[in-house]
Amino acid sequence: MRDGQTDPRRRVPRTDVLLADPRLAAAITALGRDRVKAAVTAAQDRARRGEISPEAVRDAAAAALPAPAPRTVLNATGVVLHTNLGRAALSRPAVAALIAAAGHTDVELDLATGRRARRGRDALDALAAAVPDAAAVHVVNNGAAALVLAATALAAGREIVVSRGELVEIGDGFRLPDLLESTGARLREVGTTNRTSVADYAAAVGPRTGFVLKVHPSNFRVTGFTSAVDVRDLATLGVPVVADIGSGLLTPDPLLPDEPDAGTTLRAGAHLVTASGDKLLGGPQAGLLLGAAELVERLRRHPLARALRVDKLTLAALAATLHRPDTPTRDALHADPTALQARAERLRDRLGADGRKAEVVPSVAVVGGGGAPGVELDSWALSLPERYAAPLRTGRPPVLGRVVQGRLLLDLRCVPAEADEAVRAAVLAVPGDD
Ligand SMILES: *Cc1c(COP(=O)(O)O)cnc(C)c1O
Repeated sequence: MRDGQTDPRRRVPRTDVLLADPRLAAAITALGRDRVKAAVTAAQDRARRGEISPEAVRDAAAAALPAPAPRTVLNATGVVLHTNLGRAALSRPAVAALIAAAGHTDVELDLATGRRARRGRDALDALAAAVPDAAAVHVVNNGAAALVLAATALAAGREIVVSRGELVEIGDGFRLPDLLESTGARLREVGTTNRTSVADYAAAVGPRTGFVLKVHPSNFRVTGFTSAVDVRDLATLGVPVVADIGSGLLTPDPLLPDEPDAGTTLRAGAHLVTASGDKLLGGPQAGLLLGAAELVERLRRHPLARALRVDKLTLAALAATLHRPDTPTRDALHADPTALQARAERLRDRLGADGRKAEVVPSVAVVGGGGAPGVELDSWALSLPERYAAPLRTGRPPVLGRVVQGRLLLDLRCVPAEADEAVRAAVLAVPGDD
């Protein structure tokens, strides 16, 4: 028989004592009391079963805490806009605007007059100012919503004329033709996968045409015997031309010469341009609609527009992104390879005596889900043995690289320079070879 003094189960710390531990108390703020208490109870039970000592309960409870979701990860994949990692990382001003917008705001109120005001006017004014060729602008939830709104308001019960080479799948099994037809518009497909001429469009355009749609192939390339029709030629057909440029470039970027931008597309004659906010623009998830005042007004007034309305957080982050377009996305796209190499070498040199078998190697980064397929960006990576991939991915913070021929490459193009130290610490937290 054990007596009360020596029975280790009697020495298991009490719940209120454990919850007052600074680490666990801090976790309550992020995770809520119930989830922290569950971790504490689980650790106490382990001690009562004799699996751990009473002295280890605190650490066991802290280790059993669930990670707050979503988890911030370091993107060392070399993919600038990685859909699975949430596409664009917001700029500091956009993050600050998000936080400011979290409370009550003047999103739909003019404080000077006390009257109702145009919702999100700061973001809309900034978008209009960034693309002077757009007579009017509107913002919805994402690029797909922008297309659905255009198709519903301008072509429901009518036809959308579109090239067979532009009926794309945007990802996760979602296909533009299905999306467009879900609105009650009929697709009038013209041309072939690889070649479509202006005569193909002209033959299909008629009294039932709602608009001609031009979709930028933002996630694939067709090469070889190909031809497609420019917006400039489509604009001569006498029906509205809607151009889905996808990427959200508002003005040309010399680095991405094949990527259409909103301003140029409107000047070429498009009546309406649709694009995403969280691709090359580097902002929050949003769908941008820019173009002729009469068309934009029809979209804005359509009942469906209310269901696709963006929230105040998105509007705040979008406005800040437009005011300060030097986003992490732009930084990553335009990073100087020489500077990336120097950072990789410094990282390798600071990994300690054995250096973790790290090497500095050239790498090729890509734009990713956001556009510019085929564009290769010269980059540099820290190369580690492949066995580092899983522990780095599940570490705190998770570091995501890519495995190439038995090595894990940590490409620094999309890692902010100030995060290099976190990458070093994460690598050193993985147990060494022996
Ligand atoms: C990304 C993309 C879409 C979908 O936009 P979301 O913002 O992801 O809804 C539609 N069309 C094109 C051409 C795209 O590149």
